[in-house]
Amino acid sequence: MLDWSEPAAPARQMPPSLVAQITVAADQTGLGTIDRSGGRVSVDDKRMINCRADVNQLLPLKYKWAWEKYLAGCNNHWMPTEVSMQADIALWKSRDGLTEDERRAIKRNLGFFAASESLVANNIVLAIYRHLTNPECRQYLLRQSFEEAVHTHTFQYIVESLGLDEGELFNMYREVPSITDKAAWALKHTQHLDDPDFKTGTPEADQAFLRDLVAFYVIFEGMWFYTGFAQILSLGRRNKMVGIAEQYQYILRDESIHLNFGIDVINQIKIENPHLWTKAFQDEVRAMVREAAELEAAYGRDTMPRGFLGLNAALCESYMHFIANRRCAQLGLARVFDETENPFPWMSEAMDLKKEKNFFETRVIEYQNGGALSWE
Ligand code: MN
Ligand code: FE
Repeated sequence: MLDWSEPAAPARQMPPSLVAQITVAADQTGLGTIDRSGGRVSVDDKRMINCRADVNQLLPLKYKWAWEKYLAGCNNHWMPTEVSMQADIALWKSRDGLTEDERRAIKRNLGFFAASESLVANNIVLAIYRHLTNPECRQYLLRQSFEEAVHTHTFQYIVESLGLDEGELFNMYREVPSITDKAAWALKHTQHLDDPDFKTGTPEADQAFLRDLVAFYVIFEGMWFYTGFAQILSLGRRNKMVGIAEQYQYILRDESIHLNFGIDVINQIKIENPHLWTKAFQDEVRAMVREAAELEAAYGRDTMPRGFLGLNAALCESYMHFIANRRCAQLGLARVFDETENPFPWMSEAMDLKKEKNFFETRVIEYQNGGALSWE
């Protein structure tokens, strides 16, 4: 057991405020001075945020769900270069294989994801990791960071294979207003945390941290990515851009774990810090989800002004409402939109690669060396 009532001898000579600062800083990063006289960590000492127990001791595990997601992520390992792009290249270069509307939607979809994977990665590494004071959660964040690198690699590989204009694609998040609006909306939540002086430990700061988790895990990865997946997988179902569709299926499988990790993190922080989850804060989170769905609807109208077979802006909007309500339920919040049927019921099948072998090549299955976990 750790005894916090007995500060180390040299610390006793420092002013108490300074002692507190140093203790917290050292414990939260894991890079502080080694506490030679400290005790071993017990499970009860572990906390999601503001933890004072040594973050360098992975064991004993407290949050088994975080460790399981780390293992599941490792079992799902894949690389974009394993997917053949031959059919996509032939279709993209053909004169009449794709309509102008399909080309526009594909390019904007790729442009949205290309920079978004980096935004998500930077948020994990530069904002979330610092403040999530639990080693098993950090273990998962390290795995997730690598997966985000694999996803960014996917867009590099697609650009190279199809001979797309790399500047056009990677700058869409700056140059296409409906994409910029989404990126800017999420960035305003991470900018708080990126401040070197930002520290958790007050209700205001802890709520700012929760807002960032909601913005990136629930909204960015859990809502906006899902309409993006639906667009490409819908084309894949019609045998168009099947290489990209296969890659998106693998990204979707990764992202469904990212999303569910984020939901578990938020819910665990709620359990340990019920004072943060006030009625006002719950209303704020619901307002964030509603606003995010509106930004997505605007993006849908911009990227699919006329729509094409099986897909249009109105369908994507109702899918977003369906997903938004689902995310609220996962956080224990009341729904934000009228009850909606899922307009893309095939999306849940696309998420389960094991069941959907008939449609896409499934070479990645070979990596699976444990029981597949279903995160929905
Ligand atoms: Mn990703
Ligand atoms: Fe992700």
